[in-house]
Amino acid sequence: MIVGAGQAGSDAAAALRMAGHQGPITLIGDEPHLPYSRPPLSKAFLLGEVDEGGLILRSAESYRDHEIEILTEARVSSLNSIERHVVLEDGTTVPYDKLILATGGRPRSLPNPELSAARNVFTLRSARDASLIRQHLSQARRIVVVGGGYIGLEMASVARSLGVDVTLLETNPRLLSRVTSPVVSGFFRQLHQDEGVEIRLNACIDKFETDDAGNFESLYLTDGTKIEADFLIAGIGLVPNTELALGAGLKVDNGILVNEYLQTSNPDIYAIGDVARYPDQQHGGLSRLESVPNASAQARRVAANLTGDCLPFNSVPWFWSDQFDVKLQVVGLSRGYDELVVRPDPSRARAITVFYLKGGVVISADIANSPKDFAFAKKLVAAGAVVDSALLANAAIPLRDLVPLPASI
Ligand code: ADP
Repeated sequence: MIVGAGQAGSDAAAALRMAGHQGPITLIGDEPHLPYSRPPLSKAFLLGEVDEGGLILRSAESYRDHEIEILTEARVSSLNSIERHVVLEDGTTVPYDKLILATGGRPRSLPNPELSAARNVFTLRSARDASLIRQHLSQARRIVVVGGGYIGLEMASVARSLGVDVTLLETNPRLLSRVTSPVVSGFFRQLHQDEGVEIRLNACIDKFETDDAGNFESLYLTDGTKIEADFLIAGIGLVPNTELALGAGLKVDNGILVNEYLQTSNPDIYAIGDVARYPDQQHGGLSRLESVPNASAQARRVAANLTGDCLPFNSVPWFWSDQFDVKLQVVGLSRGYDELVVRPDPSRARAITVFYLKGGVVISADIANSPKDFAFAKKLVAAGAVVDSALLANAAIPLRDLVPLPASI
């Protein structure tokens, strides 16, 4: 049984069948839709380039053909790991042999009680959230985006592209501070400013003002600045949905803790995707990644491990973000880097390639608008290549020449 019908859950069900699992598979999710792809929600979907139907990961027939029972609008309210069953909100008990938790996360909300009745304050996670934002965007002249992470920046980009004025507030002194280096933060700040987004760093919200109906009208920053807008979007991070795991006594610490086989503290229960915090073979320590490639890779690994393999999860993470005409592609995690190399290429507008090294090893790269560089960067990071930073910084040397040849057998 799989609880959570997002990317990780749906991919795990499909991967189990692909790996030859013969027994029943039940996929339980609380949303009304079949599992769908979330990344377009903050991009093409908001721009009206794709509708809900176009986001569906697999058709109803596909689940039927593979004998995957899928329960939608079914919320699991508790997990009993002794009796090995889950209880749905309507009281139904569903037994399992092995359980995969793929419960994802929910957006962090602004804590301010004065916004509790506001119907024009949004976060973005589900297709429903995105539909609401899309409706409001079509009538808005001016919005405020709180948070300068990927979600906030993608929202700002979409809104500007639709001709809406945007003020983006970030508490930190730079954008994307959780995920990247100051040089890449600076690149995105410039991009957004060039596109007319008003970016306010070190911005602390003092208070909000609402109208008679309780809807957001304006806010004050602690420096006294007043910002008015038609609506507000908060992109201030994700809270992992760990309640079921906690209730069942599984180990939880900023995510459901799993071992290298993606097994929780109960060996019959696995956790994957945005909710799982796992020992990171590549970067050391524990990682919990909010990304589609990570969800899919963990889904495939758990399916393999449940059908006979017993291999640790060891996949090089990668991410992407689309903002205006810039596609950022990221491979590896840059945390803990001790050397940063910018590979210059004046011939490409709105492009940047940055490598991160630790002890001479290429551990990560942030690459904007250069898919060719990204393809080689992936190989460098996957190989744990030791590369002289002067070579990486020399745009005259093709990256392909720096990729180590596979060891011959
Ligand atoms: P997401 O995936 O939602 O973009 P991140 O954690 O990557 O999440 O980014 C969220 C950003 O929001 C961080 O840069 C954080 O500093 C910023 N942030 C969090 N709370 C506030 C706040 N109250 N006002 C402004 N910025 C905030």
